[in-house]
Amino acid sequence: MTDRKKYQKGWYQANKERLTKKRHARIAAERAEAGVQVRVYVRSGAATRRDYDIRRKYGITEEQRDKLAAAQGGKCAICESDAELHVDHCHATNKVRGLLCRECNIGLGKFKDDLDLLERAKKYVQPTSNPS
Ligand SMILES: [Zn+2]
Repeated sequence: MTDRKKYQKGWYQANKERLTKKRHARIAAERAEAGVQVRVYVRSGAATRRDYDIRRKYGITEEQRDKLAAAQGGKCAICESDAELHVDHCHATNKVRGLLCRECNIGLGKFKDDLDLLERAKKYVQPTSNPS
């Protein structure tokens, strides 16, 4: 890659979010003027559809989600696998707890976030309490 290409790529990455927002605002204005329906995520000011979904479902931005992933070293907060990460949140408070792989997220969901159930499951699977 030439120096010029590297510079252009770096500049684009550094300005990507700003350019996307500007493009979305222009598209929204053009479509509004033409009486065409504008995609909901474009109207919301979200950078991408993924950003819109994360904001709507969990109240955090895609950037905050990515920072969380970086803080966890890109690994599941429970099993530490490097599988694709999903936002895990408390269903009672809606507060984001962290990022989990699909299996751990589903596993927690099956136990309904119930600490007593999880504790009983832990005791159940411990070799000392289940000699087989
Ligand atoms: Zn996991």
